[in-house]
Amino acid sequence: FHDRDGVIWFDGKLVPWRDAKVHVLTHGLHYGSSVFEGERIYSGRIFKSREHSQRLIRSGEILGMKIPYTAEQIDAAKEETCKAMNLTNGYIRPVAWRGSEMMGVSAQKNTIHLAIAVWEWPSYFSPEARMKGIALQWSKWRRPAPDTAPTAAKAAGLYMICTMSKHAAEQDGFQDALMLDYRGQVAEATGANFFMVKDGAIHTPTPDCFLDGITRRTVIDLAKRRGYTLVERAIFPEELAGASEIFLTGTAAEVTPVGRIGDLTFTPGEVCKTLMTDYDDLVNGRLTLAQAAE
Ligand code: PMP
Repeated sequence: FHDRDGVIWFDGKLVPWRDAKVHVLTHGLHYGSSVFEGERIYSGRIFKSREHSQRLIRSGEILGMKIPYTAEQIDAAKEETCKAMNLTNGYIRPVAWRGSEMMGVSAQKNTIHLAIAVWEWPSYFSPEARMKGIALQWSKWRRPAPDTAPTAAKAAGLYMICTMSKHAAEQDGFQDALMLDYRGQVAEATGANFFMVKDGAIHTPTPDCFLDGITRRTVIDLAKRRGYTLVERAIFPEELAGASEIFLTGTAAEVTPVGRIGDLTFTPGEVCKTLMTDYDDLVNGRLTLAQAAE
């Protein structure tokens, strides 16, 4: 991914894509002091840009890293990068990390850096897999408790078990993995939140040890606008057998139906299809947030 034309916003300047490098003794690389965002631009507008910038700053604060830019400045930097890259539909990746001045677990004075890269990324899962619903493998890893890891932050270190889970799933012919939490409750996929339709209502786990996704909250608003009953609660894996539909939400995944979890199969249904269309209308400006929040 490093060998491309274009520019990356790096500590306040646009630099050639191939020159956006860090030193090997970067604290973020050795000790996981790194936080990031994933956002999308649709029809020339960054969806919920301010919320993502604020979440990035908050993730940094949770890790004790003060990102040296305001949400307004980060918003402007994202716009600048998209313009420079001529990107009107694609993905935006801001990342902040602790630099390389001092080496060791403690590096209190190291500079906090910020970079923003953008690229075209039409679909997280292949369109064919999305149509029939993606296949999820149960992960052998569990989301940690909030007093074991900074679970409210979008922190790089929390993705170690996500990559391991997703690699295992892909090697076994699945598209992604579904993770339980430390209590054995259904938590989330490796980069997307979980929803289940059962007995006419939509159920989603309470986000008390995993990311409360911006897409998750948006889809909850869209579901309520449609008059669906929405329940946030603890969901146990045994309950999945009785579900009529399962879907995932996330910036990259958008709204993606699930066709299989381990040995269980599901068929993408009306609720998921309705929310996929509403989400698409919302992000592309054919439906406004005020209408969505009604
Ligand atoms: N959980 C994890 C682990 C994620 O990486 C993501 C993607 N950022 C989400 C949930 C969904 O969050 P959002 O809707 O804000 O993209």
